[in-house]
Amino acid sequence: MQFSFEFFPSRDNAGQLALDMAVQQLQQWQPAFASMTYGAGGSGQQASLSGTSRLLQQQLATAAHLTCVGASKSEVQAAAKQFVAQGVDHFVALRGDSPDGDYQPHADGFAYANDLVAGLREWFAGTISVAAYPEVHPQAVSAAKDMHFLKAKLEAGADQIITQYCYDTDTLLRFAEQAQKAGIEAPILMGIMPIHDIAAVQRFSARCGAGVPQQLIERFATYQQPQDITQLGIEVAYEQCQRLLENGFDQFHFYTLNRSLLTEGVLNALQASKPSLALTA
Ligand code: FAD
Repeated sequence: MQFSFEFFPSRDNAGQLALDMAVQQLQQWQPAFASMTYGAGGSGQQASLSGTSRLLQQQLATAAHLTCVGASKSEVQAAAKQFVAQGVDHFVALRGDSPDGDYQPHADGFAYANDLVAGLREWFAGTISVAAYPEVHPQAVSAAKDMHFLKAKLEAGADQIITQYCYDTDTLLRFAEQAQKAGIEAPILMGIMPIHDIAAVQRFSARCGAGVPQQLIERFATYQQPQDITQLGIEVAYEQCQRLLENGFDQFHFYTLNRSLLTEGVLNALQASKPSLALTA
């Protein structure tokens, strides 16, 4: 079994403290890598650089996310080189999203993630991961086209795939099967986002085109006590990991949201191979 952990950069002191605590806690699990998300633009980029340096300080193999949004090719390449100068040896290469939702490539920029991967591969020999969407990217023309462009990212030089979180495990497994049928052999790291707050996850998922099954919403509605909600969040993610393991997928990329409690709970349960849960409705 292999784990990786995703964090996001924080801009205020309280957020940085939470990030540092989560990183320190999760570092003990010896992840394959830890990744830091990227915010386009001057201050977003600086925050990402400072975030990756916090991961590197903890001696973690560090992946920097990088997007194409709002920047020319040379600006994106310069940002990538700053990360490499810090010690980063892994990129998660992404297109990104425009702030207003209507994506327009920069006139001198990389239009899509496959262009970014090709641009990085002109000089970068480290690992490149790319994103995939088990529920199909919301702007994709069709599922088949989305798969075609995923393959294009790998053909451009990416090494592995990280999926968007997907709470419907059947859909996730169907996606992996379709990828295999399309001739994709690269490792697929299954994106797992333990649920700490179902309402917040519903809001966020609506924005990024991911579904939250009604059955899951109802399961969370059964509990009111914070400790029970935490336990259920652990149980749900644990069940998903177990099902994926049974189907031969053993690489998990946790969207930690800069919190360690749920991710550690899932890892502990996986290690013990059974969840030690005592829920009281
Ligand atoms: P692409 O692979 O470029 O695909 C985008 C859309 O265009 C799809 O609909 C695809 O079908 C289509 N397409 C792809 N290639 C072509 C082509 N050559 N010609 C025509 N159409 C094409 N966002 C951030 O801002 N910062 C982050 O750090 C970040 N990290 C993420 C990490 C993961 C694991 C995931 C799953 C997402 C992350 N995102 C991040 C969100 C991501 O930027 C958005 O989902 C974005 O809308 C798509 O990025 P992509 O790299 O998947 O795009």
